[in-house]
Amino acid sequence: MANLEKTLVLIKPDAFSKHYSGDIIKIYEKEGFRIVAMKLLKMDERLASIHYAEHIGRPYYEDLVGFMTSAPIIAMVLEGEDAIARVRTLNGKTNPVEAAEGTIRKLYASSGSRNAVHASDSPENAEREIHIFFNETEILDGKYQPKA
Ligand code: ADP
Ligand code: MG
Repeated sequence: MANLEKTLVLIKPDAFSKHYSGDIIKIYEKEGFRIVAMKLLKMDERLASIHYAEHIGRPYYEDLVGFMTSAPIIAMVLEGEDAIARVRTLNGKTNPVEAAEGTIRKLYASSGSRNAVHASDSPENAEREIHIFFNETEILDGKYQPKA
């Protein structure tokens, strides 16, 4: 593949709590992305402050951290051709009112803050964010195949 990438996806507390996780994962898998790491966890304030470091000090930051630490999330690493940009496109714009038809946020987000999913926005942030949630031994790439 010309540009095989990994990206970090979070299924946020709103979507997880409403049992949308399976539908969201199905959208990524149908598009051909491979899940190479996955876990269920509850963020704490420290983890949220590392993941959302660039948002510290913004007016919505306290609400964002309160929301993201309120209930479990699924963290996963998806791998595929141009995964970073293509997963952002599947997710749709931050605010579901502006998100295109058929995108995950259009389908499953209720507002611009309770917006169902996160995905890395650049190769640098993908590399940084993946290693906030996963160590190398937890990332299982495509070299493993089920026994026939
Ligand atoms: P994205 O998640 O699409 O990359 P941003 O990086 O701009 O969006 O923001 C990170 C997250 O912070 C958003 O997904 C959303 O949950 C929250 N957020 C961003 N802007 C606002 C806002 N103006 N009001 C409330 N929450 C916001
Ligand atoms: Mg962002």
